[in-house]
Amino acid sequence: MVCHCLLIETDEGLVLVDTGFGTDDIAHPRRRLGAMMHFVLAPDFDPRETAVAQVEALGFRADDVRHIVVTHLDLDHAGGLGDFPNATVHLLRDEHTAAFDGTWFERTVRYHHEQWAHGPVWKLYAEAGERWFGFDAVRGLDGLPPELLLVPLRGHSAGHTGVAVDTGAGWLLHCGDAYFHASEKHDATQCPPGLRAFQTLVQRDAGPRHANQARLRALVAEHGSEVTVFCAHDASEFEALAKVS
Ligand SMILES: [Zn+2]
Repeated sequence: MVCHCLLIETDEGLVLVDTGFGTDDIAHPRRRLGAMMHFVLAPDFDPRETAVAQVEALGFRADDVRHIVVTHLDLDHAGGLGDFPNATVHLLRDEHTAAFDGTWFERTVRYHHEQWAHGPVWKLYAEAGERWFGFDAVRGLDGLPPELLLVPLRGHSAGHTGVAVDTGAGWLLHCGDAYFHASEKHDATQCPPGLRAFQTLVQRDAGPRHANQARLRALVAEHGSEVTVFCAHDASEFEALAKVS
């Protein structure tokens, strides 16, 4: 598994889409992430792979990241928020509500409040907007260029969203955890059983999750040359886009 993030240069500063695990997660994995993540999934905790280390390796400072858009607040997407304490964090309001005022499981198990204990400025969005390639309620982000869009993909979590970026040479659509395995973009039945079971185990709403996967398959089939679709954790998609060999 990888944690696929995007770094976008804009006139408003750098924009990061998802943050992966952060430096505090790596320094204190058992306390920050819990025993399940630490021992069972056992990520490869290399500080050089954090978003902030990679931003700095490109010659930027952490403070150059002015905005972060998170697909959702699960611990493998929000862990790096604290490495960019001055960035405004954009997300769907329903995700923020689930983390702060959701079910007992959401408030105390699913979401790890320590990851945003620095108190970021949250910019919250209702699920409302226009149609975009067959998706509803797609909208731009306040204070950011119109080339960046929130594409709600609810189901994995309460306010899960995709993030679309018009690169000028086609769209990128970061689908977060709307699916986990590249094969699911083409055929729902090809996902390895373990990953399929995991997605079912952690889903908030089965109906919307499956409906959004079906929409993503239609998008890939009908507009695959215009929109490059990828998820957060598929290593083959990451390697293809990052040109890692
Ligand atoms: Zn994830």
